Amino acid sequence: MKAGLNHFSAASSLSSKRSHEDVGGNNEHFYAITTVTGEIAPEEIGYCHSHEHLFLKKGPAADIDPSLQIDDYHKTVEELNLFKSLGGTTIVDAQPIGSGRHSKWLMAASQQAGVQIVASTGFHKFMFYPENHWIRTADADILTELFIDELENGMYVDGEGAWPTEQISAKAGLIKTASDFEGVGGPYYRLFKAAAQAAAASGAPIMSHTELGRGALDQIKLFTDFGLAPDQLILCHLDRKMDNTDYMLHVASTGVYLELDTIGRFKYHSDEEEVELILKLIKAGYENQILLGLDTTRKRLKSYGGEIGLDYLVNTFLPKLRDAGVSTTLIRKIMHENPGRAFRKRGILTT
Ligand SMILES: [Zn+2]
Repeated sequence: MKAGLNHFSAASSLSSKRSHEDVGGNNEHFYAITTVTGEIAPEEIGYCHSHEHLFLKKGPAADIDPSLQIDDYHKTVEELNLFKSLGGTTIVDAQPIGSGRHSKWLMAASQQAGVQIVASTGFHKFMFYPENHWIRTADADILTELFIDELENGMYVDGEGAWPTEQISAKAGLIKTASDFEGVGGPYYRLFKAAAQAAAASGAPIMSHTELGRGALDQIKLFTDFGLAPDQLILCHLDRKMDNTDYMLHVASTGVYLELDTIGRFKYHSDEEEVELILKLIKAGYENQILLGLDTTRKRLKSYGGEIGLDYLVNTFLPKLRDAGVSTTLIRKIMHENPGRAFRKRGILTT
């Protein structure tokens, strides 16, 4: 048995929603994606946006930037309805516990709109928390338990102030991590350690925020030192700055998932530059590792009066990729099959 995955051996039972892969002996791998409405098999993920923000409660981040406040339930459902009407199936919500995540609304909106949502536990940058927030001081092992609790038993609805207490049945499906320019050292080390331990024990994927794409290699080194496989890691915002493609190719060579989520954010770069970058990654052989998303804010959701909407990839950006010569089959791989692999939880069942 692989170190760190024995957590599942006793607790899990075979489910028809899980994909199985016999590996010989008495052990059997299973893979499943946890959405807020239950487990699905990886192939059920369908057309997936790999990094969005569907809700964000008012809090410290929104005080700095009001576009980070996304708190109208009906408008978000309207946006999800648009996504669904265009063939959208799944959205990954990247806001973790205690930082303005609205777990109850994620579950309700998913049920109402019929869109699968994969939610996050874990932690964000300190700017998302008030000065005296528990995330700044809690012990790494206590945080590990909290993250596992949210992955296996259900998410908490609170935690923006005091330690969270109110739990619902909807579970988190991934562990979000984040660092700013300080990287994984200093005050963030304790949090990265907690996330790595929770990922090793639960088999859940880690989705990690990089600041303008920088520091990705340090994050990967830390996680793999804790025993995680590179394909359990999703590195966010690698396309925010386009000034160092060589660095991104180096990141890609480690085997992690490359999340390109700065599409349609024209203050950073044009769609044409984004298309060029994707072509380079494909040419270098990394087509199986590419994930796409819009990293939505209030300013970028149509139903809130924003500049683009959850229709932007399918209606505007993906046609540009096709025009640049990327086949429909390959686009399908990037939008369906890659997220199906990236967001699956992995474990070994002992029979
Ligand atoms: Zn984000």
